Amino acid sequence: MEVYFDNNATTRVLPEVAAAMLPFYTEQYGNPSSIHRFGSAVGDKINEARAQVAALVGAADPVEVIFTSCGTEGDNAAIRGMLEARPDKRHIVTTKVEHSAVLGLCQHLEKKGYRVTWLNVDHEGALDLDQLRRALTDDTAVVSIMWANNETGVIFPMDEIAEIVRAKGIPFHVDAVQAAGRIPLRVGELPIDLMTISGHKFHAPKGVGALYVRRGITFPPFMIGGHQERNRRAGTENVASIIGMGRAAEIALGRMAEESARVKKLRDRLEALLLESCPDSRVNGTKEHRLPNTLNISFRYLEGESILVLLDQQGICASTGSACTAGSAEPSHVLRAMGVPADWLQGAVRFSLSRFNTEEEVNYVNEKVPLIVQRLQGFSALGRLSGKQQSESDRGSASGTIGVRG
Ligand code: PLP
Repeated sequence: MEVYFDNNATTRVLPEVAAAMLPFYTEQYGNPSSIHRFGSAVGDKINEARAQVAALVGAADPVEVIFTSCGTEGDNAAIRGMLEARPDKRHIVTTKVEHSAVLGLCQHLEKKGYRVTWLNVDHEGALDLDQLRRALTDDTAVVSIMWANNETGVIFPMDEIAEIVRAKGIPFHVDAVQAAGRIPLRVGELPIDLMTISGHKFHAPKGVGALYVRRGITFPPFMIGGHQERNRRAGTENVASIIGMGRAAEIALGRMAEESARVKKLRDRLEALLLESCPDSRVNGTKEHRLPNTLNISFRYLEGESILVLLDQQGICASTGSACTAGSAEPSHVLRAMGVPADWLQGAVRFSLSRFNTEEEVNYVNEKVPLIVQRLQGFSALGRLSGKQQSESDRGSASGTIGVRG
């Protein structure tokens, strides 16, 4: 059985989406910037997709939606754009738990001389709002905070955060890449100035995203060249993918309540079953304010990567959510920021579901995980008893190349 529980990494393109895209490769292949009707008709279709995306995020006007190549581009364009628009200001506020698209950029900007305030989260992943209030100064050029966390699914209280930032009149960017298509966004009703989303997280193809830019915000473009996207993002449009993203947005919006409830039920079932069948396990992140599809669960004393390898052998795709450098696993910066204790830190596994998943798959995963965890915990206990677990895993223990960490 093949089970794909890694939908926060990427999702399967819906058949309706693929079908909507196809004619734009083979029949309606005109350039939307052309004067002739063959091309300009494609421009009209892009604007239909723009309206569909605007509806998904709750933008007041489709013109506020700029198509991009991905979430990373949206995050970069938004933050860099606000810095360029306010060159006298040298301070950025963000959080310790952002995706690398924001985190890496802000670290880079720090090296370039910007001052960055990294906001803390508590042990449940909730943001320190008092620290946010204190962090905002006259020198702050932009605040960038994610709506929902990609590793834990924890949702930040965006209404409250946006009000705090608005009170200081500072441009506010939200990375809503994991939230879009999963929870209602209502960006037009909130004092959010810029918001990034990415198609491949809600069943559109990879390589297309959108940046919401509130009307009236000065937005220097990131990509400079032609006049596409009203001079806000140059480059010939990725037409078929934009059409696909529009269709995916329409479907996500239409079925959100129903699908979220169904997926949440499956996620909750998986969570309850695993907590029950794996005694040394715990959920990372608050259960209360969380994406309906995400479960981040730690297995004590184990390494998430080892669990993933054994899951993969059983046809199960999941993720640790942490970055792997040159084969050595770095503990997740998100879990570290949450103060997850050392014996739980390495053993985190993220299961992220979608509308394509079934109860049968949940049952299958619940059959396999306890066996894998028991096996690895046995080695881990042995290792801890003898104090030699590291050398055992170096030599390759009874599990082959699978290592455990005490
Ligand atoms: N922001 C968040 C929260 C994400 O989870 C991701 C991707 O996983 C990104 C940004 C980057 O999006 P993309 O893969 O489209 O560049």
